[in-house]
Amino acid sequence: MLAKAPKGTRDILPDEVYKWQYIENVISRLCENFGYKEIRIPVFEYTELFQRGVGETTDIVQKEMYTFLDKGGRSLTLRPEGTAGVVRSYIENGMASLVQPVKLYYNITAYRYENVQKGRYREFHQFGAEVFGSPSYLVDVEVISMVDLLFKRLGLNNIELNINSIGCPKCRKEYNLKLKEFLRPILNDLCQTCKDRYERNPLRILDCKEENCKKLIKNAPALLDNLCDECKEHFEGLRSGLDNLDIKYNIDKNIVRGLDYYTKTVFEFVSVNVGTQGTICGGGRYDGLVELCGGKPTPGIGFALGIERLLMEMESQGINIPEPEGVDIYVASLGEKATAFASKLVFQLRSEGINAEGDLIGRSLKAQMKYADKINATYVVVIGDNEIETNKAVLKNMKTGEQKDVSLDSILTRLKNK
Ligand code: ATP
Ligand code: MG
Repeated sequence: MLAKAPKGTRDILPDEVYKWQYIENVISRLCENFGYKEIRIPVFEYTELFQRGVGETTDIVQKEMYTFLDKGGRSLTLRPEGTAGVVRSYIENGMASLVQPVKLYYNITAYRYENVQKGRYREFHQFGAEVFGSPSYLVDVEVISMVDLLFKRLGLNNIELNINSIGCPKCRKEYNLKLKEFLRPILNDLCQTCKDRYERNPLRILDCKEENCKKLIKNAPALLDNLCDECKEHFEGLRSGLDNLDIKYNIDKNIVRGLDYYTKTVFEFVSVNVGTQGTICGGGRYDGLVELCGGKPTPGIGFALGIERLLMEMESQGINIPEPEGVDIYVASLGEKATAFASKLVFQLRSEGINAEGDLIGRSLKAQMKYADKINATYVVVIGDNEIETNKAVLKNMKTGEQKDVSLDSILTRLKNK
């Protein structure tokens, strides 16, 4: 076990980290364009925050949290998502007194005790955004358009946007009665989880993944058809806002989202290619959450997007991520004096922003040339006593095979102007 990573975790190795950095760069540029500021939140919070903020009836709280007591006997939990922590921070840091809306984004790791499979890990990465302080559908349109543009900028196609409205506590209360009436005669045939949800949160039954339950609830009344006037108007606003930006969407009356705190808009971006792990991004409005977590009543909306699933999707669509620039020059050296000279030249080159390498383990000249080839250096120059004496060396372009006699002093300027 000593040299084995815990189940559900993965290293991001040096030869793939550039993909992550690329995506992170695209994300931070995107968020800058949309006026979202980055927030960094702790990896763990008091367990209570997630119980309250994510919701007692959710899979996350019931089955998936990494909860432990610290040495002081406090119950802490590794963040299973970002929204609760951001909401806590918004309240704790008095962000309600800032000019509204407050628009935040984060890139975090998240932790869930899951059945590990492709696209489903125990440590994974999320890019998310949250907006506080505006009840307007315009914000719903803005956050959705941000994710849509992210996919475009990354070159992704075939990702569908599904939207729905799950109303507010007012319309949901009436709807729950209707739904329970529909469910009562089939309750015995539903799975145990659904049975447990019947009293506490019947809406979540519509989110069940069991084939049998899915079949039985197919004709259940939809919340979307039972919205109050305010929620109906909000949903119409969202639709016309998306149309206005030419963003295509499907209405999916069955999206309820796994988390308890959503109100009105809920949405998902789903890959048409990948099966059940196809949800790349999920989000929605949560107008009751800030108050639920101890703040003043404040409307909010956000989304979270799984980076692993995003990368999987990019790979399956054959999208090429630009590789970082390689080594510009390898300075080979022969003999003690030359090694000191080379090491100074390498440092000078690096100081000028050039990617330079030299020998670090006393390789023979032949082995150094092989190494230069392996690391794919664009130029190679060999320094020996003779070169130092005559102030001349051969600069070889490994890509074209071209060789040039150059003075040692000129190498720096040549590489700078490459
Ligand atoms: P699912 O239905 O797949 O379990 P979820 O509803 O639990 O997803 P959210 O809590 O909405 O997911 O998280 C937002 C996004 O984070 C998901 O759409 C997905 O891309 C990603 N995600 C969630 N759980 C995992 C996981 N265990 N491993 C990798 N990515 C994940
Ligand atoms: Mg889940």
